[in-house]
Amino acid sequence: MAFTLPETFAKLPRHPLSYPHSSPIHPLPTLSSFLRTSNPKITLFAKREDHSSPLACAGNKYRKLEYIVPDILSSKPQHNEPGYDGTPTTVVTEGAIQSNHTIQVTSVAKQIGLEAVAILHKGTGGGLSTSTDKSAFLRTGNVQIARLLGADVRMLEPGSTSGGRDPVASIMAELKAQGKVPYWIPSGASLHPLGGLGYARCAFEIAAQEKEIFGGNGRFEYMFVACGSGSTVGGLIAGFKLLDRIDANNGMTKPPRKVIGVVISPTKPREWHEGRVLNFARRAGDLIGLDGEKDITMDDVRLDFRFVGTAYGVLDPQSREALGLMAQQEAVVLDPVYTAKVARGAMHWVQEGEIAREASSKDEVNALFIHTGGQAALSAYADVDQVE
Ligand SMILES: *Cc1c(COP(=O)(O)O)cnc(C)c1O
Repeated sequence: MAFTLPETFAKLPRHPLSYPHSSPIHPLPTLSSFLRTSNPKITLFAKREDHSSPLACAGNKYRKLEYIVPDILSSKPQHNEPGYDGTPTTVVTEGAIQSNHTIQVTSVAKQIGLEAVAILHKGTGGGLSTSTDKSAFLRTGNVQIARLLGADVRMLEPGSTSGGRDPVASIMAELKAQGKVPYWIPSGASLHPLGGLGYARCAFEIAAQEKEIFGGNGRFEYMFVACGSGSTVGGLIAGFKLLDRIDANNGMTKPPRKVIGVVISPTKPREWHEGRVLNFARRAGDLIGLDGEKDITMDDVRLDFRFVGTAYGVLDPQSREALGLMAQQEAVVLDPVYTAKVARGAMHWVQEGEIAREASSKDEVNALFIHTGGQAALSAYADVDQVE
């Protein structure tokens, strides 16, 4: 469905990587009635970011990259690492062994005619260390796809340094010495100054879809999305803030939508995540026409830490159950690292009455689970094939 962005936002350079239509939103009727709520009746919907792009393993990183590609294609990128001038030849990024982000970066690099280096850290999270088949974990799933796509895959041992140097810096320097111009995209593209814009735009897409689905008198009062590196939830917060502003200017007041960022890793403390998400939201806000510092505050950042499980990349029993339920009730396949934990969180909010307590209506509430992709990692988690 078509939507228009306010002028300041619309002017920002964007290189489309998604389909020209919105990624679908559909109800989850079987799961919603399985969760059996009344007063209010809560209907869960899913936004299928895993169906957003024709490129490999569609997921949330493509939206972020749409706003970064124009900088990569420029003869004078504004946001590369210092010391790497000129038109980039090679895109370099990093992630965990089963990283989805590095796949999406590789796909984009290839599609715009550049080389890609995917730095995969064996020490990130617990996926590899708890795997019962480590050689498969290092070879299947996203690793297989990275190689198929033609990435130069560099696997780094935990804590590896190259002669005391940051291994990423030394790979960048190595490429430069070969006469290449590497362009650095930080993990999850979140620390990139343009990384939050994609999901700020997605907020406008969701708002347009609400009109289509509810005919102007309904919205997704609650949205559940993974918080990993943080710019997906940060971007959404900024986008919905701008939408609220526009509504208020038109004299429309509706209960604000609540974006709940479900944190998927226990590695970092609450303050670390909250500070980053607030920063990403403000930085995106400044670019799209808000005054980030003034308009976006910590009250807008709602992160839920109860569903982190035991480690990044490890599927705890309750998240495994959520993954099984979603598959068996709705035939929607989740991923073991992010969306299974988010689905667990969303189901908890519904079943434990946490939405009912806060919601504006006692009759009907609509909630949105944002499926950010990642299923390609499943084959590396081969023992995730049944639920009790
Ligand atoms: C990267 C990723 C996320 C997390 O997004 P952030 O912007 O890093 O918080 C969620 N789901 C999937 C499948 C991902 O690959």
